[in-house]
Amino acid sequence: MIYKHRSVIDDLEVYVPGRPIEDVKREFGLERVVKLASNENPYGFSPMAREAVMDCFNGAAVYPDGNCTALREALAKKYGAPLQNFIFGAGADEIIAMLGKVFIEEGDECVTAEITFSQYAASVLSMGGKMVYAPMKRDYGHDLDLMAALITDRTRLIFIANPNNPTGMIHTQREQEEFMKKVPKGCVVVFDQAYAEFVDDVNYPDTFGMIKQYDNIVYMKTFSKAYGLASFRVGYAIASPEVIGLMERVRCPFNVSLQGQAAALAALADTGFLNDSIIKNKEIKEFTLKKLTEMNFECLPTQANFIMVNVKRDSRQVFVELMKRGYIIRPGAAFGMDEFIRITLGTMEEMEGFFCALDEVLSLKE
Ligand code: PMP
Repeated sequence: MIYKHRSVIDDLEVYVPGRPIEDVKREFGLERVVKLASNENPYGFSPMAREAVMDCFNGAAVYPDGNCTALREALAKKYGAPLQNFIFGAGADEIIAMLGKVFIEEGDECVTAEITFSQYAASVLSMGGKMVYAPMKRDYGHDLDLMAALITDRTRLIFIANPNNPTGMIHTQREQEEFMKKVPKGCVVVFDQAYAEFVDDVNYPDTFGMIKQYDNIVYMKTFSKAYGLASFRVGYAIASPEVIGLMERVRCPFNVSLQGQAAALAALADTGFLNDSIIKNKEIKEFTLKKLTEMNFECLPTQANFIMVNVKRDSRQVFVELMKRGYIIRPGAAFGMDEFIRITLGTMEEMEGFFCALDEVLSLKE
């Protein structure tokens, strides 16, 4: 290699996203392809957000507000939190990357679950850090006791997705409180609540409420999922001014676009669209879980907008066969769960079509 580069780069893997619809259409000669692979909102996004984006479209030649002032003020009001407790990113992905840049030096450790969102490792490994993975509990839930036991004096970061991706499962307020008691003060704990809007379990933690007590908590959210703004790339974190101050030093100056800020601000105000998406997600979840259970498949108890289900056969084969029929899902093999598939909940019509395709796939010889 003629280009001298940091040696850790050789060990990184390129992120493999869900396959784009146009790609799959072309490969299999399909007219219609339904993507149930990236946990997006099947109902699109708020019409108010659409209007707000159109209104600011002509401002495209000028750099956006690097501080996301209007969005910051709206969120500060929503939470009743000081302005300086917020940081914004081009999606939660960028916030995860900032955390690695701030807290990980070569040889530092990050604790996370064995089966979880891949970008935590990408952030830490790219800085020369080391991932320490806690195996899941037998039921695929997070083992917070084990995570606490894995903390060493080299641990700088802990990432916990709640609900977790790809399992959709949550840990409770009580578990989170017990966990935080065991974490040393100098170790930063990131609670990634990308799917929080979909949760209806009363035992779900009030992470925001715990920030006042714990300066080392980072509470992370995104506009990509329930708000349906994935392509605009807007995420944010709430934490102590000390932690936010460090992260601001590595943030790119104009990291959230003008259109992204406008869309997120308007989407925040449109509680009608948000609630409607949440209610529909719940209905479709009940329908899908019932169907899968009738088919004798075991589903993990999801609190998110996707379902991880054990289809008792090679998930890669199921993935390819479903794709040939116009449905893109995520094979569990990508997460080390070979016989599971992860299905993002679509509209009722999409799910009915999906089940027809799944029936066909299951009737094929393995
Ligand atoms: N956290 C989790 C748990 C996720 O599943 C995702 C998206 N797949 C993200 C963060 C990143 O979301 P975004 O960058 O779109 O805000």
